Amino acid sequence: MAENAVKNNEGRKPLIEVRHVRKVYRMGSERIVALNDVSLEIYKGEIVCFLGTSGSGKSTFLNMVAGLEKPTRGEIIIGGVPLHKLDEAGVTLFRQKNIGFIFQAYNLMPMLTAIENVSLPLLFRNVDRRKRDALAKEAIDLVGLKGYEKRRPTQMSGGQQQRVGIARALVGRPKIIFADEPTGNLDTNTTKEVMNIIVRMARENIQTLILVTHDRSIADYADKIVTVRDGNIVDVTIKDSAVMPQQ
Ligand code: ADP
Ligand code: MG
Repeated sequence: MAENAVKNNEGRKPLIEVRHVRKVYRMGSERIVALNDVSLEIYKGEIVCFLGTSGSGKSTFLNMVAGLEKPTRGEIIIGGVPLHKLDEAGVTLFRQKNIGFIFQAYNLMPMLTAIENVSLPLLFRNVDRRKRDALAKEAIDLVGLKGYEKRRPTQMSGGQQQRVGIARALVGRPKIIFADEPTGNLDTNTTKEVMNIIVRMARENIQTLILVTHDRSIADYADKIVTVRDGNIVDVTIKDSAVMPQQ
């Protein structure tokens, strides 16, 4: 099932088209070319890993495809929608509807419980209270945190907090999930647990997952490994089938 969704992309239209994207930051008189000229196609259900050392432009790429930043030049088209042309309100709506984000530092709201954190994206989408609670509870169960609904972030381990982060990214069933160094703050065993959960959820829901990392072992979970160096894609490796993660 899962593998078939990503094979034989010929003839299919990509879900995400990144065309000649360039990003230059200005700091005073200095210009920093974070991305030089990046083009890439990503298909529905693919798990794509951006691999590169610190400063290579991974987060810049992710933030632009997720609509958090605008490219200096180039086009980003998602499901036929030219993201780079939308205004701020349009991008916000698009993100709420289509995109989930998992952060390295979890980015949970410290005053809110696990279930409240997971409910947040639904609140922004005006889902009513009962439905929010039911969906958030289901998402918490799916990431293996049953019984932790009322815990606050400080009352959970890093791995548990990241599972809350995953549940929050997935609760609205977004088409695309972005993850920026999702295991960067976790130990090796917890990294495996968390990656297994992220990949399993993406596969089950046929979601497109784009993750960026400097950790080569994370790339094993991907269908497509995109290596970046100094703001350029230097290699794209597509696997016949994903390495299905082991427990
Ligand atoms: P990575 O995520 O691969 O570590 P980044 O995309 O964060 O790399 O950064 C790429 C380059 O762009 C780096 O040289 C970084 O210092 C620079 N950069 C990133 N964000 C900004 C910003 N907001 N202002 C100025 N320079 C930035
Ligand atoms: Mg980064």
